[in-house]
Amino acid sequence: MPDADSYEWHPAPCPECADPAARLAPGDSDRADILLCSRCLVHGRLPYRDPAEIRACLPFGVRLAMRGEVLHIGVPVTPHGLNAYTRAVVDLATERGFVAVWRPSRRRHEVIVAAPRPDGAWGWIEVGARSGKILRAAVYPHGRGRPGMRAAGSRAVRQLVERLPIPGAAARPDVPAGKAADGFS
Ligand SMILES: [Zn+2]
Repeated sequence: MPDADSYEWHPAPCPECADPAARLAPGDSDRADILLCSRCLVHGRLPYRDPAEIRACLPFGVRLAMRGEVLHIGVPVTPHGLNAYTRAVVDLATERGFVAVWRPSRRRHEVIVAAPRPDGAWGWIEVGARSGKILRAAVYPHGRGRPGMRAAGSRAVRQLVERLPIPGAAARPDVPAGKAADGFS
């Protein structure tokens, strides 16, 4: 397990709405094991979240901790030497609400891209450690047990990432229907 400096910390995702603006914070009840989602309220959903439920939806290799009264997720830091295109593709995934978990190695880095939801989209991208370029990827838009798609080369991989359904879109009326449609059906 890497030390604490090897993690980047961000507000933890909500497994219901997966809204990047969501913050999970303790409510005003005595129950420390119940968190309230700030965005599920806006979307007309019941806001109560159980930390165990949140943990169960996240990929292996992340940490959870309360920071400043908000639940945060710690993800392994991005490896050095990625080219700008690779960074942009991974940023695109995280901006859309996916959790990106790097597994660096000497020859090839792997980044897991996962929707923070039960049975959400899941995939991996392989990156050359020396070149910093995307080599190939596989994505499973409807979860790991369902059919997947593969792509080789940075542009084709970017297209796969662009077409992944936005996590939690069905729970979020703010996501346009076109973005919620997955194109993989
Ligand atoms: Zn939520």
